[in-house]
Amino acid sequence: MQNNYINLFKIFSYSPNAILVTDSEAKIVYANSAWEKLTGYTLDEVRGANPKILQSGKTPRSYYKKLWNSLTKGDPYISEDVIDKRKDGSLYQIHSTIYPIHEDKNIRYFVQVQQDITKRIHSENLKSEFFSILSHELKTPITVLKLLIQTRMRETPKNEVIKIKHEEMRFFEEELDRLTNLVNDMLDASRIEMNKIRLTFEVVNITKLIQAVLANLAIVSQNHKLTFVGTKKEYFVVADKHRIEQVLINFLTNAIKYSPEKETVAVDIMEQRNEIVISVKDNGIGIPKKDQKMIFDKFYQARKKSGFGLGLYISKEIIKRHKGKIWVESEEGKGSTFYFSLPTIEDQFH
Ligand code: ADP
Repeated sequence: MQNNYINLFKIFSYSPNAILVTDSEAKIVYANSAWEKLTGYTLDEVRGANPKILQSGKTPRSYYKKLWNSLTKGDPYISEDVIDKRKDGSLYQIHSTIYPIHEDKNIRYFVQVQQDITKRIHSENLKSEFFSILSHELKTPITVLKLLIQTRMRETPKNEVIKIKHEEMRFFEEELDRLTNLVNDMLDASRIEMNKIRLTFEVVNITKLIQAVLANLAIVSQNHKLTFVGTKKEYFVVADKHRIEQVLINFLTNAIKYSPEKETVAVDIMEQRNEIVISVKDNGIGIPKKDQKMIFDKFYQARKKSGFGLGLYISKEIIKRHKGKIWVESEEGKGSTFYFSLPTIEDQFH
């Protein structure tokens, strides 16, 4: 390699963008450290190889055709459509610019500058998914409520009292509750995002709190048997009572929602080293292994049921702000146990 090129490649080595250089026969001659980091390969491993080793099969065929047309004309080629494969097999998407470098009218090198846009594409997809779920979740209750109102109005002559059955009013209330929960979850998620969630810490009898939540939920979820299986001992923690209640309700309503056929849901509390651990166990549909890590992410839903995929994300953020932990153990088809832990009072003050 000539000296002037060596100097050029030295400059490339400082670039935050991944840069790959091939000779005119598409054999790799240089890759900078950003490229090594992006792909997982080292330059020594790929020197002399064809960049085809990165092909994932997911890049549209038209890309290669247009690329070839441009490069043979001696023009640079720019695209956002390239999905490549790392050494470990995982995929990434790049904004790629390929420049041919000429010497005496012949192409000497191809320089490809790559910017990793995997995260950007992922967040764009997430955003459009967010709007489609949001509109669906808002539209359903609004449509049914409107339909009911319209039917009753049509049936009732003007100036007469509209009769609505108790059952129908209950249905009204349930749909309005769903809307309220959705709006509250969205507000919480945006507060978390802006780091504006405020917690009010106090000493809380967590055993009593669990029992109160169970008693309240038992009234509304009559198909399930919610049981407290903890010991009689009362445990105390320093926590935001309402936020911990919110986490418990989220765990319990999920346990009910995702165990439609199996009625028992068991709540336990125990002390382990410096932590109080609370668990909610159901015998429901369970969660596939591959989804278990992601269910605490924003908008993640392992299976589409009613809901928005925000409950566990908010719970995780609440527990994080209590310096606690949150996790799940689950087997598909058998059930799930959700856990959260809080530091014991002694541990919080030491
Ligand atoms: P939502 O229930 O609104 O979808 P969550 O954040 O509360 O959102 O839960 C995220 C996902 O985790 C759910 O969509 C569901 O796939 C899964 N999940 C949560 N709890 C359970 C459970 N007890 N059993 C099975 N799957 C669950």
